[in-house]
Amino acid sequence: MFNKIAFLIFGVFLTWLGFEVIRKGGFVLYGHYVSFADSKVISGSALIAFGILFIWFALKRKAQDFRGKFLVCPKCKDSFNQKDVPNSHCPKCNIGLEKLDGFYDRHPELKEERQDDM
Ligand SMILES: [Zn+2]
Repeated sequence: MFNKIAFLIFGVFLTWLGFEVIRKGGFVLYGHYVSFADSKVISGSALIAFGILFIWFALKRKAQDFRGKFLVCPKCKDSFNQKDVPNSHCPKCNIGLEKLDGFYDRHPELKEERQDDM
């Protein structure tokens, strides 16, 4: 959660810096003026590109939250990637798989069983 926000803030910051460089030819960082006067368009564009990359990465990480993508078999308790089992059935037991997210909340008895195994 923190990483996503950090990436997003950093991305917005870089994008803002890029626009500052293009507009003014530089920016003030920790009391020092950083000048890109000779190559402000190229440097500014590069900063904006990096900024967008960070923002995109932050949003992509959110979209790739894996918890909703894994399925678990209520019988053998094997877990599967959703894309590997298109019909959402356990290949071994041939019964319907359930979403891993919240599975052990719905089946507390299996949670105890699993802890005994370990
Ligand atoms: Zn199974």
